[in-house]
Amino acid sequence: MKLYAENILLNDGWASNQTITIEQGVITAIDAGMAEGAEIAKGAVIPGMVNCHSHAFQRAFAGFSEQGSEGQDSFWTWRKIMYQFLAQLTDVDAKNIAKQLYIEMLKMGYTRVAEFHYLHHDIDGSTYNANTSEDKSSALATMAQAIFDAAKESGIGLTLLPVLYQHSGFGEQKPSDGQKRFINSTEQFNQLVSDCFTLSEQYSNSNVGIAPHSLRAVDKKSLLSAVEHVRSLDNQAPIHIHISEQQKEVDDCLSHYGKRPVQWLLDNAELDQHWCLIHATHINEAERKGIIAKQAIAGICPTTEANLGDGIFPTTEFLSEKGTIAIGSDSHISVNPIEEIRWLEYTQRLIKQQRAILASDEQTSVGQNLWQQAAQGGAQSTNSNTGFLAIGKQADLLVLDQDKTKLFANANQHLLDSMIFASQQNPIADVMVNGFWQVINQQHVDQEQASDNFAKLLMRLSAS
Ligand SMILES: [Zn+2]
Repeated sequence: MKLYAENILLNDGWASNQTITIEQGVITAIDAGMAEGAEIAKGAVIPGMVNCHSHAFQRAFAGFSEQGSEGQDSFWTWRKIMYQFLAQLTDVDAKNIAKQLYIEMLKMGYTRVAEFHYLHHDIDGSTYNANTSEDKSSALATMAQAIFDAAKESGIGLTLLPVLYQHSGFGEQKPSDGQKRFINSTEQFNQLVSDCFTLSEQYSNSNVGIAPHSLRAVDKKSLLSAVEHVRSLDNQAPIHIHISEQQKEVDDCLSHYGKRPVQWLLDNAELDQHWCLIHATHINEAERKGIIAKQAIAGICPTTEANLGDGIFPTTEFLSEKGTIAIGSDSHISVNPIEEIRWLEYTQRLIKQQRAILASDEQTSVGQNLWQQAAQGGAQSTNSNTGFLAIGKQADLLVLDQDKTKLFANANQHLLDSMIFASQQNPIADVMVNGFWQVINQQHVDQEQASDNFAKLLMRLSAS
């Protein structure tokens, strides 16, 4: 197909009056002028955003844990509520939640998601049974398949990251009852990862990596074994890990290993550009420089980090030293890349009492700089052929709604600043993933069915 855009954000900047040709999901040509028979984009075209960090099931209790108890709530009390919720979820529920979430993501401009997937086992903690599964080889991956199905039915691109989770704290502490659905031996986990690679072949626009949950949940031996196994299947597979999200985690790591978490990781794992360090909130200068030297990515989740009271990533210093960032919606307290980027900038303004901080010498528009850097960092974090629009790249793109963008500063150099800082309505009209329109005029073909299923599920969960 051919798509004509009056304005389009290409890798090297804005271009006007261009026709892009898309074949089998990939951009094969970009030509000046309007080609005959081309569809006409109804507004400016920009690259889709990659969501580098999602726990889909957490969408089901967004909004349930905002009631204060005398200032005593923290990440750890939130986690208790989360465990109560997931104790009830079946694999069908997991798919219905993820499908609703992924449709919401698409409508807000996320065209690919990295699913940090740790709900592996049945409600009682037992592994799904090969005898009752239709496909014996993939019984272990029953929950993973629910995620693949949700991504396929919604149309979003998927990078599935099965999570290795073994301990409840540093020093190989025994997992709690609330964690029983997450736990795998290293051998079983590596089998699950192999099964996910096999499954992925049946689903277009998907790939697989791994996610050792955190240094508190995985010991060194298991971590290195899981990394070695996934690298034997794909030497560019993404590897994501939660790290330094909470000050308590840093303190516990210091007392157990005698090192801060990121420093320990730098010293004990061979980080490279396929590693994505999720949060990395509490890092010192040496750790910051260490991440950058390894070309690893910082996966920042600004609205979740704010919601959980985690802290603030040193984005100003990290970007000025040429670090690579990606953004994620994590707990899904917000499913909106515009809001993530707005918070990324605003937290820095509030700390530093300055304005327009996260721009660069090459790109003075904060909105455009952050959108492009987050999309490209997200593509790197998923090892996907996405992140910007150019010949040879996957056609993951957004068409902005001109009726909305015309109400703000909308010359090309201001357009993404207006979108991120000034617009109060979703400005994204149409969304294409891998060459297919998944959202047209802000509507997804399955949205009603998905939201009906999801609302029923929420009623059931909140009644019990
Ligand atoms: Zn997370």
